[in-house]
Amino acid sequence: MKDFIIVGFGLAGLSFAEILDRNQKSYVVFENNSELSSRVAGGLYNPVILKRFTPAWMASEQLALALSVYKNVEKQLNESFITELPVLRRFNTVEEQNLWFTACDKPILNEFLSSDLVKNENVALDIPFQFGQVKHTGRIEVKKMLCSYLSYIETRQLLFKESFEHTALDVQEDYVSYKGIRAKNIIFCEGYGLRNNPFFNYLPLQGNKGEYIIIKSKDLQLQEAVKSSIFIIPLGGDLYKVGATYNRDDKTSVVTELAKEELRMKLDRFLNVDYEIVDQVAGIRPTTKDRRPFVGTHREHLNLHIINGLGSRGILIGPYAAKGLYDYITKSTPLHTEIDIKRFD
Ligand SMILES: Cc1cc2nc3c(=O)[nH]c(=O)nc-3n(C[C@H](O)[C@H](O)[C@H](O)COP(=O)(O)OP(=O)(O)OC[C@H]3O[C@@H](n4cnc5c(N)ncnc54)[C@H](O)[C@@H]3O)c2cc1C
Repeated sequence: MKDFIIVGFGLAGLSFAEILDRNQKSYVVFENNSELSSRVAGGLYNPVILKRFTPAWMASEQLALALSVYKNVEKQLNESFITELPVLRRFNTVEEQNLWFTACDKPILNEFLSSDLVKNENVALDIPFQFGQVKHTGRIEVKKMLCSYLSYIETRQLLFKESFEHTALDVQEDYVSYKGIRAKNIIFCEGYGLRNNPFFNYLPLQGNKGEYIIIKSKDLQLQEAVKSSIFIIPLGGDLYKVGATYNRDDKTSVVTELAKEELRMKLDRFLNVDYEIVDQVAGIRPTTKDRRPFVGTHREHLNLHIINGLGSRGILIGPYAAKGLYDYITKSTPLHTEIDIKRFD
């Protein structure tokens, strides 16, 4: 009898596996590579919403927890995935600069926004009104981290590289059984794949497609992540991730010419040097209408659980949601009402 089955190994599944490993709980993972959201993510952690200069929901708490989780993963796997990376917001107008200063004065944002504007020294960029700098930001190499963690799970013979078939799940009162595997609990972390899950697909997941282009430019020489209408994120080796797009209508993970053109156009507005597009990636963000994740336990089957709806901020919310669910299952600690799926009962 295992303690848990985890279905899906993106940021949600990894966050839950990490807490299980830390607490010496047994588990197996099913992963079928059907959803790509975590694998294509920009990997930025940034506690501020840079469109409106407002704090992300519970950003302080989530940031501290997320960093401790990813540092623990680094230690456990003896690899490095975290890079501290300044995020610079390009101002389009003087009015935006003034809004930034107003935001800096708010106690909740004071910790994250620097009131010293940054002058652009990079001739490759057209920055007429300077930058505002966000503090405590960085980048996680999500794809590398997921691959390494999956290899670690595979070497312990706990990984099934196959689709989980929900119809084959036998749910009993105090355990579940699936193709010969018995476990006390099962956690569904399927991202946009939730739509195929008959136990939880009543939850109103929206889905928002995002695409990035990866460019190569010798002349850009950028060391920070820059946010204008899109992000430029340095990857090293003269490569940069540029994006992302937001599209609610297309629910495929296929890259499109339309997104490539949109990103190229937005980039050309403030980039003065040549570049080559070397790759393009796409995935569906598991978004929700109320911008809060789906965390909790099935209303009838008390050994079926879910972590989903991490939206566009999975790096910060994933570990918070996983801890909330773990404490709820093992210690009956109530979930925050804003994330608990009971809000849809
Ligand atoms: C273009 C883009 C850029 C982004 N950039 C950022 C960023 O910079 N910072 C940030 O914090 N967030 C970012 N996000 C959001 C973040 O990636 C998501 O919040 C996060 O990936 C959601 O993780 P998840 O584990 O819930 O879902 P997913 O990553 O989709 O993982 C679900 C997993 O379940 C598997 N699965 C599904 N069904 C089954 C099944 N039946 N059997 C077996 N396996 C199954 C899938 O293959 C998949 O691996 C970005 C998203 C996109 C699309």
